[in-house]
Amino acid sequence: MIYVKGLKCRECGRIYPKEPLYVCEYCFGPLEVDYDYEKIKKKLTKETIQSRGRNLWRYKELLPIDGEATDGLNSGFTPLIRAKNLEKALGVRELYIKDDSVNHPSLSFKDRVVAVALSKAKEFGFHTVACASTGNLANSVAAQAAVAGLKRYIFVPADLERGKILGTLIYKPILVTVEGNYDQVNRLCSEIATKYKWAFVNINIRPYYAEGSKTVGYEIAEQLGWKAPRHIIVPCAGGSLITKIYKGLKEFSALGLIDKPETKIYAAQATGCAPIVTAIKENATIIKPVKPDTIAKSLAIGNPADGVYALAAVRETRGWAEDVSDNEIVEAIKLLARTEGIFTETAGGVTLGVAKKLIEQGKIPRDESVVVCITGNGLKTQEALLGKIGNPIKIKPNIASFEENIRQ
Ligand SMILES: *Cc1c(COP(=O)(O)O)cnc(C)c1O
Ligand SMILES: [Zn+2]
Repeated sequence: MIYVKGLKCRECGRIYPKEPLYVCEYCFGPLEVDYDYEKIKKKLTKETIQSRGRNLWRYKELLPIDGEATDGLNSGFTPLIRAKNLEKALGVRELYIKDDSVNHPSLSFKDRVVAVALSKAKEFGFHTVACASTGNLANSVAAQAAVAGLKRYIFVPADLERGKILGTLIYKPILVTVEGNYDQVNRLCSEIATKYKWAFVNINIRPYYAEGSKTVGYEIAEQLGWKAPRHIIVPCAGGSLITKIYKGLKEFSALGLIDKPETKIYAAQATGCAPIVTAIKENATIIKPVKPDTIAKSLAIGNPADGVYALAAVRETRGWAEDVSDNEIVEAIKLLARTEGIFTETAGGVTLGVAKKLIEQGKIPRDESVVVCITGNGLKTQEALLGKIGNPIKIKPNIASFEENIRQ
């Protein structure tokens, strides 16, 4: 059964065939996957979904492949954790962590988008995949393309964290570090993508790739018992994830799987790279690009491709946005670890730091359900914590030394 009709321009609505295209040739708007929702509605029930494997392909009719899924067969369906200790620490009644720090196989939410992108790239007949990445996408493309036996070229800014470089190299891709920031890497890759016949997951495969992010929204609703929460806080880099969580909830509601959501969506960024948050605070309709300077490197995109759609997601749901300093990011990483036992990367520190701020400001009421999207794993960004988490107690291997050092 085929549920995808083709691609459609987000701006002018022009229809395109199912091909590795991403931009409208008439208005330069981004293309989006166009589904046959009538057909999906007949097929996709709660029971059907629940009878399937615990991975993102349980929603396969809402994902843009025509055949069977071939990649990311264990990706997605990450835990949604009721965070009792954090509720107490923040003074709220009902708080959940959507924990993609344990996504399979590469420990970030990017495993979802790559699962879809590689399945689609294979349908298109590509043998080489590539990406421009702030780190996590590099890890996931390298890992999943290795399994798929695809040739893989990865482009990242040269100043990336060691954990993200190592966590890419281990899968033996061709890793290219570019002396520049992500926005420069991305511009270079757009040029390469027009010249070489590769599937650039976040460039020419982007319309398909981005759909993988909807599964975060589906899972949150399903795991809450087929119900949308009142508030969701989402970290933003290019602004795709936040847009797609919103789309996912709207689709679930249109298909009758949940009631019409009353969810407010909040954008979270680091103060050192907050073009989306700034536009929301200033009530601007365009995004002013910035030059990133933050420890949250995975979110360091100064010119976000989906920025205006991120603004729309926030405004249409009557949410808001906040940013946090590098110090606040570190404090939030530590808070999540000591309350819930979850070690997140800098992006997770941004999200939780922003959640805390919005609660303190009264923007998020203390008695309504809140979901905080934790999107990556702390073992990859260890340098952010160096010198900030204390030291172990060093002793000699005898009881006297133990008692001498521990007593005090
Ligand atoms: C890529 C990324 C995001 C944000 O993704 P966008 O869709 O580009 O906004 C959030 N968190 C982490 C850890 C990421 O790697
Ligand atoms: Zn168009």
